[in-house]
Amino acid sequence: MPLQLRSDLTALTGYHSPQVAADVRLNTNESPYPPPPGFFEALQRALHEMPLHRYPDRHTVRLREAIAHHEGVPPASVFPANGSNEIIQTLLLAFGGPGRTACVFTPSYTMHTHIAQTVLTPVVEVKRRADFLVGGDLVAATVAKLAPSIMFFCHPNNPTGLAEDEPAVRAALDLDDMLVVVDEAYGEFLGTSWAQEAVRRENLAVCRTFSKAWGIPALRLGYLLGSPAWTGLLDQVHLPYHLNAFSQVAGMLSFDFVDEMRARVATLTSERDRLYDALAARSDLTVWPSLSNFLLFRPVCDAETLWRGLLEHGILVRNFASRPGIENCLRVTVGTPAENSRFLSALAAVLSAVKPATAKPGFDVSSPDSLGSSAVCDEQL
Ligand SMILES: *Cc1c(COP(=O)(O)O)cnc(C)c1O
Repeated sequence: MPLQLRSDLTALTGYHSPQVAADVRLNTNESPYPPPPGFFEALQRALHEMPLHRYPDRHTVRLREAIAHHEGVPPASVFPANGSNEIIQTLLLAFGGPGRTACVFTPSYTMHTHIAQTVLTPVVEVKRRADFLVGGDLVAATVAKLAPSIMFFCHPNNPTGLAEDEPAVRAALDLDDMLVVVDEAYGEFLGTSWAQEAVRRENLAVCRTFSKAWGIPALRLGYLLGSPAWTGLLDQVHLPYHLNAFSQVAGMLSFDFVDEMRARVATLTSERDRLYDALAARSDLTVWPSLSNFLLFRPVCDAETLWRGLLEHGILVRNFASRPGIENCLRVTVGTPAENSRFLSALAAVLSAVKPATAKPGFDVSSPDSLGSSAVCDEQL
């Protein structure tokens, strides 16, 4: 008999972002620009000197110091790992588990839910308000009803694009015995951060990544910022030598190219605004404002049809046609100016060819206010 997956995992569907071949890939929120040539040269030199026959620095001392310097926090507040996904997994291994519920406000980054489930942490999903924010009242109601041990925020939120509202995060932080996780994967585009607060508070974990603005998702590197009162506890659960020497060095060298990173962010931000204006000017779709490097939009026509039409023009965007809370939506990552222009002309071509009459019944496509109520839903997923 073939091996059977752990029974509680069979209903999980994995990470749904099909890696379909396409000329223009605007589906996974990567930077369209690699780091500058100087970064590759420095990395090559470092590789030549790397003692590959030895295990890497188990405590990632030099990388922690470099991150601490960049963030203006003490090194003991920093924990680097293989992308922010490993940070989230490590946090859940240490502070989640059976009997400790994690709460996520949907729609949001589905990996928070997925990783929690794989490490046997019960998850409750609570719908965001119609404006996609959470708000202090919903946090209070959720805590009163469900008493979670861990609460996830995403600042700015993927896939909706806006910053988390401060009253919601503050309401969560005021509950001293609940761990509050703020995922800042797109923090470089936003400009505000909970990082300094994470060092002062004893219940806040901020996750950041090199996968988006820094442009090195291939190297799998992210870091956590939190209070030295508990960051050392993570050593109980991560694998020994969890972070390879090459990634450690790549992270350190990245900080020699901060200006180039900021220039990429500036270009992408102005391209995002150009894309937003072009989408907002159309009457056949609704687009949400964004403080990140992607835009969520809902066409009047069937989103699945539009998604396929764009793919036929060589353009791959993220398909959320059947994602609860953002039904019939697509998400486009900001690319290079040429890629964005190609996206806009393909969009215009496909939309003029499809009939708006193909709109699905069952929801009102006319306004963002049609996104369901903010009632607490306490299904166990
Ligand atoms: C892309 C993304 C990440 C990145 O994960 P890595 O493991 O660091 O590559 C984390 N959180 C959110 C919300 C994201 O969109």
